[in-house]
Amino acid sequence: MNTVVLLSRDSLLLKQLQAAFARSAPQLNAVLMDDPAAAQAQVAACWFPLPGSLGALNNLQVIHSVAAGVDHLEHDPSCPDLPVCRVVDPGHRQGMTEYVRWAVIHYHRGFDQVLQQQREQVWQRPLQRSAGQFRVGVMGLGSLGSAIASDLAAAGYSVRGWARGNKDLPGVQTFAGAEGFEAFLGGVELLINLLPLTPETRGILGSATFDRLAHGAALVNCGRGAHLRIDELEHALASGQLRGALLDVFEREPLPLEHKLWSLPGVTITPHMASAASHDCIAEQVAENVRRLNAGEPLLNTVDMTLGY
Ligand code: NAP
Repeated sequence: MNTVVLLSRDSLLLKQLQAAFARSAPQLNAVLMDDPAAAQAQVAACWFPLPGSLGALNNLQVIHSVAAGVDHLEHDPSCPDLPVCRVVDPGHRQGMTEYVRWAVIHYHRGFDQVLQQQREQVWQRPLQRSAGQFRVGVMGLGSLGSAIASDLAAAGYSVRGWARGNKDLPGVQTFAGAEGFEAFLGGVELLINLLPLTPETRGILGSATFDRLAHGAALVNCGRGAHLRIDELEHALASGQLRGALLDVFEREPLPLEHKLWSLPGVTITPHMASAASHDCIAEQVAENVRRLNAGEPLLNTVDMTLGY
């Protein structure tokens, strides 16, 4: 029986994952770091592994993120140079689509304004514009971003998308690379970030980006907290360049109680809830990669760690 070691700073998640592996991948021995069998593990399934844990495992052949992103592996500086895989759960797309649909309608139909007006007992109907008159920009057109952009285009929105390489998505005007970024941002009224966190994308949500959007645009950050420059967001909100920001991800999670974002006017906080891979899907995908490893077949959902995604 192959052993998989589960590594995370989140002890509740470890228990939940262990139960899911028992249910959905009973052919594997899924153990925690304190189990002597962990030393035999060929695969580590990780979400924010504790520093030093990966480097202590001498038989590892594959490091498996249990999420869509792999940036959390940086949490363990002992992470060895081995093939890295991630989880791509179709349910991830569904969850993210639901979250983003809500955000788009919230800003497109002015619910942010009327909720504020209710607090002030103001009766004022927001201007109603058709979806086609509302320009949405999606940063990142991978597994999640392409599904979001296509969904919004099908709902009639004017959708732009941006990725590193050229894309062809029906109903979506696409832009590529650093040279296409400025043109992509022009006139966008709602910017949705679905980029992975890499050295190139860290801090990309800052003044240089906000200033190119339509005046009074809104931001939805579903990528990672370190994409956002918080002081520059504060400045853009204060000047009115941005009218609001819906933030789902933060550099420190949970967001510390004393953090200024909690009470910054125009900011809505959600607790990294946009979408999560199901624990059973994680167990099944890790098990499939263990099978492939044993059979000498190519692994699924590998990550290019030189690019960071
Ligand atoms: P993915 O399939 O790896 O797609 C990444 C996309 O970003 C690709 O389209 C890629 O372009 C583009 N990209 C990467 N670097 C770029 C750069 N420097 N300039 C322009 N475009 C760049 O990732 P995914 O599965 O869609 O997930 C995206 C991210 O969403 C994850 O990494 C994670 O941070 C976040 N996420 C958040 C939640 C949540 O609950 N909030 C849940 C899941 C995931 P190419 O296609 O041209 O390579």
